[in-house]
Amino acid sequence: MATTFKTKALIIGAGPAGYTAAIYAARANLEPIVVQGLQPGGQLTITSDVENWPGETSILGPDLMDKMQAQAAHTGAKLVYDLISEVDFSKRPFVCQSDAGDTYVADTVIIATGAQAKWLGLPSEQAFLGQGVSGCAVCDAAFFKNKDVVVVGGGNTAVEDALYLTRHVRKVTMVHRRDTFRAEKVMQDRLFANPKIEVLWHTVVDEIVGDGVPSRVTGIKLRDVRTGAAEHRPIDGVFVAIGHAPATSVFVGKVPTDPDGYILTKPDSTATAIPGVFAAGDVKDRIYRQAVTAAGMGCMAALEAEKFLAEHSHDSGERAEERREEQMIGAWD
Ligand SMILES: Cc1cc2nc3c(=O)[nH]c(=O)nc-3n(C[C@H](O)[C@H](O)[C@H](O)COP(=O)(O)OP(=O)(O)OC[C@H]3O[C@@H](n4cnc5c(N)ncnc54)[C@H](O)[C@@H]3O)c2cc1C
Repeated sequence: MATTFKTKALIIGAGPAGYTAAIYAARANLEPIVVQGLQPGGQLTITSDVENWPGETSILGPDLMDKMQAQAAHTGAKLVYDLISEVDFSKRPFVCQSDAGDTYVADTVIIATGAQAKWLGLPSEQAFLGQGVSGCAVCDAAFFKNKDVVVVGGGNTAVEDALYLTRHVRKVTMVHRRDTFRAEKVMQDRLFANPKIEVLWHTVVDEIVGDGVPSRVTGIKLRDVRTGAAEHRPIDGVFVAIGHAPATSVFVGKVPTDPDGYILTKPDSTATAIPGVFAAGDVKDRIYRQAVTAAGMGCMAALEAEKFLAEHSHDSGERAEERREEQMIGAWD
């Protein structure tokens, strides 16, 4: 039976941003509800080792997200397995509908629906994901010390990834289907000057090849799009850098986004143009895209939601500030 839930803070999304927002919002007595979507735990649930989460030398992505989920539940956040399919931000309280037919009436909303790396769509790419295929050079470069890797793509991210990888790997081969990069000229100059980088123009990836238990990437099958000539190259890793897509289809037209769909927020803030609606994590961040930055923004969003509620209730502004400080002190205990 369809149910209506009321909350001071509805958190949409359950990655590092959503769970961190939930922890802070629950500790501020906002009794948050987290609607977790199709991927509770978010993007880290599809990776293996995470070695850049502070406090964990190495932890499996799904284990880290289980811990965050458990902590959010422990602080009192209500976690729901459902998907938000429609939002009405035209007046407060905000009204959001779920896929299951439930209604969420919320005084504030924190959007933390993240983004998804775009993939090539090859079955072999998914088979070796986290076993030599990566969508994040900053996250995984250190696993390829003195190895040979391929970067696929031609935009700023691909060029940045290739340059970043040269600090770790022996050789980077860039594979691009066209004969020019879309990346900024200054980045391209750096790329072409780097002796560790080879560029293959007019080339696409047909298959990623690997073996062993646990499986690992050993090579790549490439094809020249002009001649159709196929080539097999031995390599150790493939970094797919063809872009990211923010998960904002539900919010487009409801809250300002940039042309690529990333939610726009005020400088140094998670506040959107709609008072009471906040956005945190990869859904608003096209630059850093890290678990720790997403978590940091989740914290900001919850604190800003709490401040917003305090300022819009009978509390005086002073009391709102006091409560915010109490929350910060609590967080450092
Ligand atoms: C393969 C891979 C490996 C990575 N490795 C690392 C690493 O080692 N270290 C690192 O720091 N970062 C890594 N990253 C990046 C990191 O995972 C992201 O930066 C981080 O997960 C972003 O967190 P987020 O909370 O913003 O969003 P996400 O993790 O993307 O979570 C989004 C959440 O929103 C939910 N959602 C989406 N739409 C809806 C909806 N309509 N209704 C309800 N819920 C919805 C989803 O179910 C999900 O729970 C990696 C990413 C990938 C893809």
